[in-house]
Amino acid sequence: MTGKLWTPRLDERLKELHAEGCTFTRIAWKLNAEFGTRFTKNACVGRGHRLGVPLREPKILPGARRQRVVTINDLRTGICHWPSDGTRPPYTYCGKPTYNGRSFCLEHSRLAYTPARHRG
Ligand SMILES: [Zn+2]
Repeated sequence: MTGKLWTPRLDERLKELHAEGCTFTRIAWKLNAEFGTRFTKNACVGRGHRLGVPLREPKILPGARRQRVVTINDLRTGICHWPSDGTRPPYTYCGKPTYNGRSFCLEHSRLAYTPARHRG
């Protein structure tokens, strides 16, 4: 055993472990433990790439990519004070960098500073 030979069984197992959300570090460790191979993490990354599995690690939990919630306690100069969900506590705010020294980001500045219609 050279320890460098990929077999269909190894390929399957790699894909399986990857689908389970294992990192390539973990996949290498598992394959080596199960098959007596000596794959490095990089070998597994390379093989995974050839097999067409998407490279993603560490696993992103659902919701982890959501924008950070900005509450009243986080509000300070330089971040947008626009209420993003004012219907019920805890009240949250936009939280993006402000535009041009204003209290809001560019998008919300446009909303906030739209000239009021003059009464005629
Ligand atoms: Zn904003």
